Amino acid sequence: RAARSSGEAVREYLPTMGQIFLRRFQLVTQFRQALETGQVKVHYQPKVALPSRQVLGVEALVRWRHPEFGKLDPDEFVPAVEAAGLVDALTGFVMDQSLQRVRKWLDRGLRISAAVNLSVRSLDDATFPDRVAAALERHGVPPELLTLELTESGVMADPQRALPVLRALHALGVVLAVDDFGTGYSSLAYLRQLPVDEVKIDKSFVLGMGTDLGDHAVVRSIVELGHSLGLTVVAEGVEDDLARDQLTAMGCDVAQGYLISRPLSESRLEAWLQARTTQARGKRDEMVLTL
Ligand code: C2E
Ligand code: MG
Ligand code: MG
Ligand code: MG
Repeated sequence: RAARSSGEAVREYLPTMGQIFLRRFQLVTQFRQALETGQVKVHYQPKVALPSRQVLGVEALVRWRHPEFGKLDPDEFVPAVEAAGLVDALTGFVMDQSLQRVRKWLDRGLRISAAVNLSVRSLDDATFPDRVAAALERHGVPPELLTLELTESGVMADPQRALPVLRALHALGVVLAVDDFGTGYSSLAYLRQLPVDEVKIDKSFVLGMGTDLGDHAVVRSIVELGHSLGLTVVAEGVEDDLARDQLTAMGCDVAQGYLISRPLSESRLEAWLQARTTQARGKRDEMVLTL
């Protein structure tokens, strides 16, 4: 213990309520400036088709390198940013960065989509779809190359309230995905009533499916029911060959997880993609992942 740096030692104390409140307050008041000064960055995690392993898209995952608190994961600041009513700035930033990347890939002949995580609060905002449309136009990206992810618990908390904005987004032609599926209490049948295209199986089930029969059964039923509703089924948290092989056998469409890649910074993602581009003779470039 004594050998540890003081910075590490400090983190082992349980913070008091006052300290938690203060930190939250600091994060919220500093957030806008952090966006402007480059402390907040978007990382990208590839999504690949099963069984072909073709790179279909990336999920944008926000990171904050805070000068005092160090590297912060979204779970540590997104809820505070949402509660403070600042999530529009976050979503706008992540969407702009992501669409810029998609456009650059298009210019190189690559069709790779980007998935942006939304706050459920955006579904209360009738002007949100117009802002998405404007962003697509500004970046010259066709709508089908943008996926918007909403958590199951967020949408299902009040589906009637979410419906008008979901319908407007769907009408734009963007792909709508329900994230962290299986953790809430909704039934897949209920999904039928929402204009969604994709369901993402929560990583807790995917991580457990190799050792837990219950998790395995949950994953299989989500794949089957998702397909019966005409949805694309994505598994997140794919960490090993066994999970990938089981998902492939079940007919799961898309895999995302550490087995394929961790979330990568923009430059590391470019290097990762570069190493996996194969020239399809006489055609446009095609991204094929060779693990
Ligand atoms: P999510 O959208 O479900 O994203 C997947 C999370 O699982 C990411 O955590 C990712 O790093 C992690 N992950 C990916 N592959 C694996 C794996 O194989 N094993 C394990 N154990 N984990 C894996 P991350 O980046 O910490 O993000 C956490 C959550 O924060 C996200 O969950 C999403 O709900 C939210 N989030 C991230 N970026 C944004 C954003 O820009 N806006 C909003 N509103 N929420 C965001
Ligand atoms: Mg995390
Ligand atoms: Mg997500
Ligand atoms: Mg998830």
